[in-house]
Amino acid sequence: MCGIVAYIGEKEAYPLLIKGLKRLEYRGYDSAGVALLNGDVNVYKKKGKVQELVNHAQGAKKNGTLGIGHTRWATHGAPDDLNAHPHVSGDGRLALVHNGIIENYALLKKALEKEGHVFHSETDTEVLVHLIEEIQNRDNLPLEEAIRIALTRVVGAYAIVVLDKNDPNKLVAARKASPLVIGIGENEFFLASDATPIIEHTKKVIYLNDEEIAVVRRSGSYDIRTINNEVQAPFIHELDMKIEMLEKGGYDYFMLKEIHEQPTTISDCMRGRLNADEGWIMLGGLEEHVNRITKAKRIIIAACGTSWHAGLIAEYLIEDLARLPVEVEYASELRYRNPIITEDDVVIAISQSGETADTLAALELAKEKGALIYGIVNVVGSSIARITDAGSYIHAGPEIGVASTKAFTGQVTLLTMMALSLAHKRGTISTSYFQQLLNEMSNIPKKVEKVLESNKKIEYIAQEIKDKPNALYLGRGYNFPIALEGALKLKEISYIHAEGYPAAEMKHGPIALIDEEMPVIVIATNKSAYDKIASNIQEVKARKGLVIAVVTEGDEVISQIADYTIEIPDTEEPFTPLLSVIPLQLLSYHIALMRDCNVDQPRNLAKSVTVE
Ligand code: GLU
Repeated sequence: MCGIVAYIGEKEAYPLLIKGLKRLEYRGYDSAGVALLNGDVNVYKKKGKVQELVNHAQGAKKNGTLGIGHTRWATHGAPDDLNAHPHVSGDGRLALVHNGIIENYALLKKALEKEGHVFHSETDTEVLVHLIEEIQNRDNLPLEEAIRIALTRVVGAYAIVVLDKNDPNKLVAARKASPLVIGIGENEFFLASDATPIIEHTKKVIYLNDEEIAVVRRSGSYDIRTINNEVQAPFIHELDMKIEMLEKGGYDYFMLKEIHEQPTTISDCMRGRLNADEGWIMLGGLEEHVNRITKAKRIIIAACGTSWHAGLIAEYLIEDLARLPVEVEYASELRYRNPIITEDDVVIAISQSGETADTLAALELAKEKGALIYGIVNVVGSSIARITDAGSYIHAGPEIGVASTKAFTGQVTLLTMMALSLAHKRGTISTSYFQQLLNEMSNIPKKVEKVLESNKKIEYIAQEIKDKPNALYLGRGYNFPIALEGALKLKEISYIHAEGYPAAEMKHGPIALIDEEMPVIVIATNKSAYDKIASNIQEVKARKGLVIAVVTEGDEVISQIADYTIEIPDTEEPFTPLLSVIPLQLLSYHIALMRDCNVDQPRNLAKSVTVE
């Protein structure tokens, strides 16, 4: 989950690397480091954020037109200065940055120690640079060849960039299961974990594939080979991203900006795909495989974290509307159990980054078993987007806050359209109901705007919760996954312990926790189970819990019982999650801010989980 950036060209590398690392900081912020080549290899690295590195390197020699940089999310070894990347070979000739895990590092390390190698860090990464050094020196090989041979001995995941002091005119990069993008400029190259550090310099990029090794040269030439030494003819993509998308645009935090972008991102997701006036929904990926998907025996959804919650909503939507059986799986579990997946199944992977290691692996397994694999991702050109048979982008634009907000509503919007389209094609809902739902779905962005107007009230309510050690989130039906998502948002950014539960399950355990210290956030907008959820709230109040209820505009019953209410506009029940999640995002945001937490970069987390 680290971020990698590298540069070779005519400009000074250091400022470019630092700017790039700041853009990639969402991927990890345990430590940061750079290596610059200017006759010598100058390495600067420091525990903490990129700014700590900048302070540390102040006044030091930082010139050079070739360099590599890294922002770390530690897997092997504590997040300290010594374990920070870049790591350097024993003879000081090579410097390497790495995103991923070298699983067989312990064995390799032992063998290298026997050859006299001495290690200074606890990382798996340092072992890799020593392995390359050993192979390079033994047969006096060019760097790319030494890397190629080394990688055939490595088990695990990697995106790496390596510089060689003896060859200041090239950089060598490789990837397997961790992303790497090459930006092609005029006599210069940028390498990075995603396109965000590249976009302001060039729009021409190559997404490196698994087990490919790239050499980029100062002369402007480059070549790409596989780990088996086969020359590749790469496809050059044109980036479609604007630099403003990567800035805070006047908001204090990316998370707040992204929460407020949702009316736009939801409508961007629907643009060209849903037309209520003409009465149609069209999802390119779905149309391409329409027969297989509408006739699937079962849909399996694989995802992690917030995306898994979007998957749960899809289960309710697809079963309710399209009458197709759906199972929602944690990708990390699916990949390691012995699941029954057949050619009649469709496996949908949901991932914001499109790089989530567990989800990717689950998809590979499903592919092997012959299922049709479908990706729902945000990042264009990401690994999941490239390995799936079909898919749909959610078009939410770069999401930088580590806690997902607009990507979640983008996923739910996409899955809602998918459920509607499947229902229409399978004839499981009437044409008039389909039309009614299309009309209402096009009103959702406006209604989200309306929910955002409650921001001040939500900030006020946040005061009530900010000092509590725990919180409980309850919901039924379509709002049950929203209860899970609300609890996750609170945990992630405010470090308050929170749990989400189906409201009716409360009496099977969590009710024992309720007293005046326990805030209970109930999402109570349901039409079908309104009386039931009202009773659940009574049960909490009878035990002195503090109830904050999200209700439908004009609600008269629950607003009498709850301590606080937040209203959302009325909508068709299947669309409720798109509105009811918004107040919970804002609530977590305000609570985290009041507790002085770093909203955009919560401790221990990183945005795209590219390690297992
Ligand atoms: N395994 C490397 C380390 O711990 C890289 C970690 C990662 O990519 O998340 O430094």
